[in-house]
Amino acid sequence: MERIVEPLLEWYRRNKRDLPWRKDQNPYHVWISEIMLQQTRIEAVKEYYKRFIKRIPNIRALSQIDEDELLKLWEGLGYYSRARNLKKAAMTIEQEYGGIFPEEYDDIKKLSGIGEYTAGAISSICFDKKEVAIDGNVMRVYARVENEDIDVSDLKIKKKIGEKIKKILPSKPGDFNEGIMELGETICLPNAIPKCEICPLKELCKAHQNHCEIELPRKVKKKEKPEEFYTVFLLLHDDEIAIHKRSTGLLKNMWEFPNLEGVLTQNEALKWIGEDNIISSIQEGIENTHIFTHKKWKMKSYVVRLKKKKTEYTWVSFAELTKDYALPTAFMPFLKYVIRQKSE
Ligand code: SF4
Repeated sequence: MERIVEPLLEWYRRNKRDLPWRKDQNPYHVWISEIMLQQTRIEAVKEYYKRFIKRIPNIRALSQIDEDELLKLWEGLGYYSRARNLKKAAMTIEQEYGGIFPEEYDDIKKLSGIGEYTAGAISSICFDKKEVAIDGNVMRVYARVENEDIDVSDLKIKKKIGEKIKKILPSKPGDFNEGIMELGETICLPNAIPKCEICPLKELCKAHQNHCEIELPRKVKKKEKPEEFYTVFLLLHDDEIAIHKRSTGLLKNMWEFPNLEGVLTQNEALKWIGEDNIISSIQEGIENTHIFTHKKWKMKSYVVRLKKKKTEYTWVSFAELTKDYALPTAFMPFLKYVIRQKSE
């Protein structure tokens, strides 16, 4: 592997993409981008990142931001615990490090929402620490360069690769870490034919020499995600819709449309709403499946027009909901559906 260091660095310095968080080595910028990139494509993150940094330019501002505003800025990125952890970590940095981002890997890793990969990325990119940042891209490039039939989901193997790579890190470890990830994202592609002809490692890559790069790394069959079923109520009164804050479990404290677990028939839905005399009309709405990292929500909906508001909910206009409230992506198709219906 040590032979890949120089060609990789040279290639990276010539070809690195111009990304908004690569303008400097400010750990705040790298941190925010790394957290956003955890579940989202680079192209989609760019605009979120710019908007976020404009509104929350530094650690102090992040530590003081109102949670609802933070979640609104995060709306669409999903996995809202990431946003909450950012604020929690910013408060820790303010309280324990005087507002200065810590430099050491172990200190960074203790911050809320930061794991091995992100701690390695920040400490190497921003502070030139010889720490590795191993993600799926790095595992794939490693498997192909070394022609090793590894299981990329095996944490022990990930650790071993991390130890091997740590020994060959150059004086600019951040460039190496970013370079190998960039190579995995743009050249040594996962779900398409790798672009070996333009790869800076093609002379050294054992899988390419053996014409087996496409077979590596081994595909691991993903486990089926468990399914949960929900019935969502789009309760309307005049030009307003009912929302409330979720009190437990996944998406806790997020705004959402009233819903309950299970698939309700129309009669059951009417019974759930309770007071018969306040219902003007009820009709079935759209269904939506939302896939989280570890489960699926299968959701059906009812659009219910009410003669008077049910007081246990917060009632908002569509304009207010869109502007001021962070609605999880799982509920977005329902919002779009009722807005579309209203304009027809
Ligand atoms: S030569 Fe091909 S398989 Fe090997 S690292 Fe480069 S792109 Fe990947």
